[in-house]
Amino acid sequence: MLFLLISLAACQTPDKDTQQDETQQTIAEADTTQRQPRPKPEFYSFKGVEKKRVFICMDPTDDTFHQQHDCPVLVACKSTFRNLTLPRAVENFDRYNCETCSSDLAYVFDENAAQFETGFGDKR
Ligand SMILES: [Zn+2]
Repeated sequence: MLFLLISLAACQTPDKDTQQDETQQTIAEADTTQRQPRPKPEFYSFKGVEKKRVFICMDPTDDTFHQQHDCPVLVACKSTFRNLTLPRAVENFDRYNCETCSSDLAYVFDENAAQFETGFGDKR
């Protein structure tokens, strides 16, 4: 509990003095963390992971979901976060897999992988 309070306090302090540096930082980080959210995924398949729970950051520039609550990308979230099922994160919030903690879920959005899965084996 004490640890939680400390992390909450740590999260809320930076806004005061860093205001002036904000513009420069935004430009510097533009290529990595501050990218534009991607459009809604066109293809996805939740076979086997319908019940998986993931975390999302509610920041409007964020378009990923996370399997790990301590993922560095999620920890850097400046907004609130939510815990929800993978299908909800994708369908209701247009999220993609985080490449840091959820690269193993990239296949969810891979149409070719799904086709491969259903069409494997020899056709005789
Ligand atoms: Zn992550």
